Amino acid sequence: MEAGPRHPDLAVSAAPLLGLGRPALEEWALAQGQPAFRGRQLHEWIYARGVREPQAITVLPKLWRERLEPSLIGRLPLRHRSDAADGTVKLLLGTGDGLSLETVGIPAGDRLTVCVSSQVGCPMACRFCATGKGGLQRSLAVHEIVDQVLSVREAMGRRPSHVVFMGMGEPLLNIDAVLAAIDCLCGDLGMAQRQITVSSVGVPGALPQLAERARQRLGRAQFTLAVSLHAPDQRLREELIPTARAYPIDALLEDCRRYVADTGRRVSFEYVLLGGVNDQPRHAEALARLLRGFQSHVNLIPYNPIAEEDFRRPSSEAVEAFRRLLGARRVAVSVRASRGLDADAACGQLRRRLEAAESGAPLRFDPAVDRTPPEPHRPARG
Ligand code: SAH
Repeated sequence: MEAGPRHPDLAVSAAPLLGLGRPALEEWALAQGQPAFRGRQLHEWIYARGVREPQAITVLPKLWRERLEPSLIGRLPLRHRSDAADGTVKLLLGTGDGLSLETVGIPAGDRLTVCVSSQVGCPMACRFCATGKGGLQRSLAVHEIVDQVLSVREAMGRRPSHVVFMGMGEPLLNIDAVLAAIDCLCGDLGMAQRQITVSSVGVPGALPQLAERARQRLGRAQFTLAVSLHAPDQRLREELIPTARAYPIDALLEDCRRYVADTGRRVSFEYVLLGGVNDQPRHAEALARLLRGFQSHVNLIPYNPIAEEDFRRPSSEAVEAFRRLLGARRVAVSVRASRGLDADAACGQLRRRLEAAESGAPLRFDPAVDRTPPEPHRPARG
């Protein structure tokens, strides 16, 4: 059994160091009876060198270093890694309270994009989303968000250039931690806000708050806000996104316009294309009408099949026709290339699959998604 914290002083400063900036680390060092420059050393080793435990920071005095809790930095252990043929890497990280979360590294030329989770699970229950099937466990803390970027850097051996909050969870239900993480990624890891995208399906009242708190925390919101629209009208949107009932599409768009006015940043819209459901020419026409006069960009995402639902991935002809129709109506539009299908890269899929394996339930193999069958489940030893 653990005999409690090794050093009584640390019981009060159990909050992890990851996520703290240089001034806060200096203060922490002073509070520990150390000179301020120890805080600057911690900063260098935590962020630039990516150490996992204070014991690895060899410039710290040995006696002090050895008294510190190994978990003090707050790094998350890697529980599983899954590599796709196209270079996409998906990591499953463990939290201190025994949960697991997903993060994905997506290389493309000079770019390395990290798709980070903001929550474990998600309460929004979008019908086509694997994460939504299990509900919400909890929101992530700042260090658990920042760790994902460090873990991808470590796993892939290169510096991430872009971060998108498009992993598990709804970022606008965790605004403060998301903004603090952005602050840390920019201030301590040297990223630029413009290389960061926050994606939301919409939470009533949250967009004005996001603009206001971003101003307080970051000086100015310069990250990109992406809003998951997925339908050109309220009726269809509610069918796909049950929580949209509480947030009419007109109110959502009005809040987006206000966000643009408040921040001076464009908003982009995501639109998951579901074969035969929302991918018809009439949907593209209606979407173009809805967004007329709105300085925005539409990102089309062909549905990534999940085991729990019978939606179809649209044909590439249907995707192309939808794109062309929007373009002809002067809507700026692009199609997101699907990456890492064989690494279970669709939101929430890796975690669900591993949990099923760990609980002994049979793994479902979907030939439309998986190129290689999953390994047979091996019973735990002992
Ligand atoms: N909760 C936020 C961010 C996480 S999801 C949001 O909804 O925006 C990031 C994007 O992936 C969203 O646009 C979401 O709708 C989309 N997505 C979820 N499941 C998907 C699937 N099976 N195929 C394609 N896109 C999916």
